[in-house]
Amino acid sequence: MEKIKVVCPHCGAVNAIPKKDQYSKANCGQCKASLLATKPINLDEAAFNNQVANSDIPVIVDFWAEWCGPCKMMAPAFEQTAAQYPLKLRFAKLDTEAQQSVAARFAIRSIPTTIAFKNNKEIDRVSGALSAEQLKQWVSQFI
Ligand SMILES: [Zn+2]
Repeated sequence: MEKIKVVCPHCGAVNAIPKKDQYSKANCGQCKASLLATKPINLDEAAFNNQVANSDIPVIVDFWAEWCGPCKMMAPAFEQTAAQYPLKLRFAKLDTEAQQSVAARFAIRSIPTTIAFKNNKEIDRVSGALSAEQLKQWVSQFI
């Protein structure tokens, strides 16, 4: 059976799980928590590198900051969209103030900027706040 690598959203352990169309249950081999959790995870630089390098599923990263009004407006849409793709997409947030070196590495000039990563590479990005509908349309092309 084909396997895919997913990074646990709770502890960061890399899990290899059978590739399926749908999952009813999948737990982390290390911390036992559910790999189906969809709440966007907050990334520091190490967690960012781990997620992007070790995930076979695309990682959607919202580059944001506390002072950014449009970022806050977009947060509920981001969470809502994340909930629709358990183990299909990993949704994460990166605070550009706290993690300036990552923001610099990807030349983030305006926020919110949302970047899709696959196999450790940026595959697409979009700047500006998106509605849940726009976000869903944009991410559905990466599955
Ligand atoms: Zn875990």
